[in-house]
Amino acid sequence: MESTQLLIQLSYVVAAGLFIYGLKLLGSAGTARRGNLLSAIAMLLAIVAALLDQGIVEYQWILIGFVLGGVIGAGAARLVQMTSMPEMVALFNGFGGMASLLVGVAAIATATGTFTLVTIVLSILIGGLTFTGSMVAYGKLSERIGSAAIVFSGQQIVNSLIVLGILASAVMFCIEPANAQWLYLVIGLSLLFGIMAVIPIGGADMPVVISLLNSYSGLAACAAGFAINNNILIVAGSLVGASGIILTQIMCKAMNRSLSNVLFSGFGSAGGPAEKVEGEIKPISVDDAYYILEAASNVAIIPGYGMAVAQAQHVVKELTEILEKNGTEVNFGIHPVAGRMPGHMNVLLAEADVPYDQLLEMDDINPRMENVDVAIVIGANDVVNPAARESEGSPIYGMPVINVDHARTVFVLKRSMASGFAGIENPLFYKDNTRMLFGDAKESIGGLIREFGN
Ligand code: NDP
Repeated sequence: MESTQLLIQLSYVVAAGLFIYGLKLLGSAGTARRGNLLSAIAMLLAIVAALLDQGIVEYQWILIGFVLGGVIGAGAARLVQMTSMPEMVALFNGFGGMASLLVGVAAIATATGTFTLVTIVLSILIGGLTFTGSMVAYGKLSERIGSAAIVFSGQQIVNSLIVLGILASAVMFCIEPANAQWLYLVIGLSLLFGIMAVIPIGGADMPVVISLLNSYSGLAACAAGFAINNNILIVAGSLVGASGIILTQIMCKAMNRSLSNVLFSGFGSAGGPAEKVEGEIKPISVDDAYYILEAASNVAIIPGYGMAVAQAQHVVKELTEILEKNGTEVNFGIHPVAGRMPGHMNVLLAEADVPYDQLLEMDDINPRMENVDVAIVIGANDVVNPAARESEGSPIYGMPVINVDHARTVFVLKRSMASGFAGIENPLFYKDNTRMLFGDAKESIGGLIREFGN
C-alpha cells in the first residue's frame, strides 16, 4: 500500500475509534459535551481523509460547501429554541438521507457488478424515504402541517403496493442499470413511501419516529459507503444505524409500548374515553406553597414537557439554590421520556447549570420518594401518572413512572386541568397529598422565589 493510502486508512481507523469513544462519552450528561466535540473532530478528519481518498480535484466547491454548511449549522444550532430541538434533529436527519440518495445516484456512473448496484439502490431507497419521512416529521413537530394521524381506508393496501413497486423497480434497476426509468421509479416511490409511512403517526410520537429515521439515515449512509467503497462511511453509518435503533427501543420501553404500536396505532391523536377519577382538586397559592417549602428538608423536582414550554429551567435552578441555602436537600427526578425527545430535561437543566449529580434517574429517585417532604412536579403529567401503576385499563398501564404520590406532599405546577401527551386523566391531581399550583411554571416559580426573598 502506498504511503498516502496508508495514511488515509489510518485516519479512518482513528476517526472510527474517536466515533466510538465519542458515543461512549455521550452516554452520560457530565461527559456528553466532550463526546460531541470528539465526534465532530472525528467527522472532520473522516471528511478530509475521504476527499483525499477519492482524489477530488475541484476543492473550491468543497470549501464553499464546507463554509456554507458550517455557517448554516452553527447559526441553526445557536438560534434554535430548546423546545424546537426535535424539529431541528428531524431536518438534519432528512438532509442526511438526501445526501445518501445523492451519493447513491452519483455512484451509478462508476458502478460495476451487482453487489455495488444493490448497495446503490439501497442507499437511494433508504435515503429517499428518510428524507421525505423526516420532512413530514419536521412539519408535524413544527405544526406547519396538522399533527394528527392521517388515516384512510385502504391505507395498508396502498402502502403495500408502493413497497411492491419499490422492490420490483429496484430489481429491474439492478438488471438494467442503463435504463433510467427504473432509477426514477425507485427514487419517486421511495420519496412517496417516506411520506406515506409517517403521515399515519400522531405528532406527539414524532420523537420516536425521528429516532427510527435517524437509524435509517445511518443505514443509508452505510449502503452509500459500500456503493463508493468508503470504509469510514460504512463504519459511521453502522454506528448511527445501531445507536438509532437502540434509542428507539429505549423510548418504546420507557413508554411501555411496542414499536409497531407507535408506528401503526395513531396513539395520542384519537384520545380514548376519559376515565372518571374520584376525589377533589385542591389548589394552593404561591404564599401557602412557600410556607410548606420553607419548612421542607428534602425536596424532589420532577420536570416535564411543560418546563420546556415555560422555559423555566433558569428559575428552577435559582429556586434550587435558594432551597439549598435554606438547608433543604434538593434532587431532580428525570424520567427517560419526560419532554418530547430523549434527554430533553437533561439538556434543559444542563443549560441552566444544574449540577449533573443532582439529576437522578427514575430508578434512583423512586426508592427515595417516601422520604421526600415535597415533590414539585413542573409541567410533567404522564410521567408522574399513578394510573400507570394502579389502573389496569389505562392506555399507559405498565409504563414506568416517577412515584411522586409517595412523597409527603406533591405540588403540581401546570396551567389548567388539561391532560398531557397521552390525553388521559391523571389521578395524581386528586390525591389527598397533592396541591395544584396553577399558572405558567416560570411565573409560579418566580413567585416562590420572590416569597423567599421577602
Ligand atoms: P406531558 O405532555 O404528559 O405533560 C406536559 C404538561 O405540561 C401538561 O399537562 C401541561 O398542562 C403542562 N404545561 C404545558 N405548558 C406549561 C407551562 N407553560 N407551565 C406549566 N405547565 C405547562 O409531558 P411529560 O413530560 O410528563 O410526558 C412526556 C410524554 O411525551 C409522555 O407521555 C411520553 O411518552 C411522550 N413522549 C416522549 C418522548 C421523549 O422522547 N421524551 C417521545 C415520544 C413521546 P397545562 O396545559 O395544563 O399547563
